[in-house]
Amino acid sequence: MRILVLGSGAREHAIITSLLSENAGHEITAAPGNAGIAADVEVVALDPTNGSIVRDYARDNGIELVVIGPEAPLVAGVADKLTAAGIPVFGPSKAAAALEGSKTFAKRIMDEAGVPTGRAARTTSSEQAVAAIDEYGAPYVIKADGLAAGKGVLVTPDRNAAIAHAEYWLQHGDVLVEEFLAGQEVSLFLLSDGESVVPLEPAQDYKRAYDHDEGPNTGGMGAYSPLPWLTEEFVDDVISSVALPTIRQLAAENTPFVGLLYCGLILTKQGTRVIEFNARFGDPETQVVLPRLVTPLSGLLYAAATGTLGRLPYPKFSSDVAVTVVLASEGYPDSPVTGREILGLDAASAVAGVHITHAATAVLDGKFIATGGRVLSVVATGSNFTVARARAYEALGHIQLEGGHYRTDIAQRVAE
Ligand code: AMP
Repeated sequence: MRILVLGSGAREHAIITSLLSENAGHEITAAPGNAGIAADVEVVALDPTNGSIVRDYARDNGIELVVIGPEAPLVAGVADKLTAAGIPVFGPSKAAAALEGSKTFAKRIMDEAGVPTGRAARTTSSEQAVAAIDEYGAPYVIKADGLAAGKGVLVTPDRNAAIAHAEYWLQHGDVLVEEFLAGQEVSLFLLSDGESVVPLEPAQDYKRAYDHDEGPNTGGMGAYSPLPWLTEEFVDDVISSVALPTIRQLAAENTPFVGLLYCGLILTKQGTRVIEFNARFGDPETQVVLPRLVTPLSGLLYAAATGTLGRLPYPKFSSDVAVTVVLASEGYPDSPVTGREILGLDAASAVAGVHITHAATAVLDGKFIATGGRVLSVVATGSNFTVARARAYEALGHIQLEGGHYRTDIAQRVAE
């Protein structure tokens, strides 16, 4: 199949690695990709958020499937342009992507569909925000309504900080004040063709910058999969109480969701609650879910894009486990230092069971350079978490990036 993957992060590198592992002779192009992706497949320098350009490129090059990695092209309506041109696309329309792009839209869909989630107040003024903050009490959860590049959410015990965060984001739009939910977090990916859903295996990510869940929230510093502490019924329960009601509600509103429904869940004492939906594969969870997928990914994505997912059996996964650890630049997440050389990638990749997905990398004068906050993720598989963790950290020991930092406690809780 001729496949175009839009995006330039570790998630897209993981998707491409999975497609290549099928050994099915796919012709894969990435736009715009990164240095790691460019080492594996052809890359083209086109703007992935420009629907007309993406559509024309896909048409001119006989692309049979477009896979949209990040949220920006979704929110920009790139899937709509492709669908209108009859090109199969894995990724929701602009209207359906509001499930991620607007937290108030997501809350309304959940309310209509009866999906369990925390209480939330939508506020449009400082007075309303302060009233909601005092009603729900500490710890406080404050969220900007629209996309905020990972900076919109603050969870804090400090009332003044909560109010300041709300007042800052009220300058840009509405702000949600939410009830704090306590419990383990689970990320579950489901593919949907607008009607049916097919689950992948759950993962857990680590959002905070430093060990022991300290420091600021980030895009994600590591992940592991599967989650041995989940019950056997967990996935089926989420399908029936969360995923299918949401997909049906969106279909009933004439905004069918075709693509990846990412359910961000918290297991509270009262049961599973949704904290957020995303409309695309999550990063870094993708890096630990896809290496374990045995069923060819291309067939799943194509079936979702063409409305035939309901005919497929649920995908199979390897019994191996996977761990990923993100290497971040000095100063990430607040003010990452970029432009520094990355050394030791070959030695790291040579560790058994390890591969590296690139996020913010470029090649300059034959050297790998870090170009952003989250630079790369080291992915390790193994027969158990002790083995996979040891491999991941051994590989990280080979990589040098001045000022670079990573968490040392990824998947520690599940290692023997
Ligand atoms: P979000 O961008 O909505 O996923 O929020 C980022 C992170 O903030 C989540 O992964 C949680 O760790 C935390 N968080 C968000 N909402 C809540 C909540 N209602 N209660 C507790 N923690 C939350």
